Amino acid sequence: MIYRPYGKTGKHVSVIGMGGMRFRKEDYATDDWSRAIAVVHRAHELGVNYFDTAPGYCDDTSEKIFGEAFKSMSRDSFYVSTKCGLWNARTAKEARKMIDQSLRRLGVDHIDFYNMWSVKTLEDYREYLKKGGVLEGAREAQKEGLISHICFTTHLRGEEIAQVANDGIFEGVTLGYNAINFAYRQKGIDACHEANLGIVTMNPLGGGIIPAHPEYFSFLKQGDDSLAVSALKFILSQNKATLAIPGFSTVEEVEENVLAADNLKEAPEELLDELAKHLTSELNSLCTTCAYCDSCPQDIPIPQLLDSYNMLILSNGDEKQMFTRMKNHWGVDPSWATKCIACGKCERLCTQKLPIIKRLAEISGYLGRQTPAR
Ligand code: SF4
Ligand code: SF4
Repeated sequence: MIYRPYGKTGKHVSVIGMGGMRFRKEDYATDDWSRAIAVVHRAHELGVNYFDTAPGYCDDTSEKIFGEAFKSMSRDSFYVSTKCGLWNARTAKEARKMIDQSLRRLGVDHIDFYNMWSVKTLEDYREYLKKGGVLEGAREAQKEGLISHICFTTHLRGEEIAQVANDGIFEGVTLGYNAINFAYRQKGIDACHEANLGIVTMNPLGGGIIPAHPEYFSFLKQGDDSLAVSALKFILSQNKATLAIPGFSTVEEVEENVLAADNLKEAPEELLDELAKHLTSELNSLCTTCAYCDSCPQDIPIPQLLDSYNMLILSNGDEKQMFTRMKNHWGVDPSWATKCIACGKCERLCTQKLPIIKRLAEISGYLGRQTPAR
């Protein structure tokens, strides 16, 4: 396993961490959690020392599973990351309750990385920072030694991530970063790297889109590596990302993913340029979330809606998947699509030359036919 410094914290983390959102239901639905715990232990055995969880994951059992697994792991051999969302707490007092709950469930006396969870907009960011808000609660707990580092997780676009990174409040960021959206996130990654934040990349397989569509993503495949391992290597070989945290369900998945960290070499700029070219030519019907179009006079969040529309293409027309992505991943209201006045500005700017107006009209059409996920 390769270890990299996590920003300025002085901690060294494994380049593969474990995301704790994919334990299998059958492995935690009864009192017998031994298979889920075995996944954590196998990851630890193979050198993984960064474990990421959150209240709510896996029907609210993920933190508790880790708590059971940690009982037989020496506390100085791993780091744990967990989170508090605005839907969990709005005040310092409520945040403190969440922190105490996580400490109790995890069975630890301190949390290494505590995240302001899912900053989707700059309004969310300001809400976390407000006087008497969640950040204040986390800082008080930090003074008492209950939290080591305060970080954030985000779906903001690159420029906005840069703004938050440059404010210097957080020591690390967790963000979705993969072969589909890397162009959209690159500015943010660059700014976080510049500001010396730890950079945790989640969703390295694009929410399963990449392995589920091998024909689309075959250009990522390197040698004998599976597509999943190649996609992970793509992220990790860029030295700006500190680590990737795929979600593990089975011991076999742990073993396969850890392989990605073997023989990891830094990707030459030319290879990344080459891959970027594939993303803008071969995948020509997909939005790459590059955000070049993102200056709509109607303030329509075009990259977010068009990224969600990708799901419609990749799932052969299952609009539920598209609406789920709008809601759960981006937090955008699909009715934005109805506000398009067809001025054409975005289509002139689109790097993929996508028929944005037509796609927005299609989304609006679906809204007319059914009640979208909200
Ligand atoms: S065509 Fe529609 S989505 Fe595009 S910039 Fe104009 S109003 Fe916005
Ligand atoms: S619609 Fe076009 S310009 Fe806008 S984010 Fe997608 S690919 Fe980029």
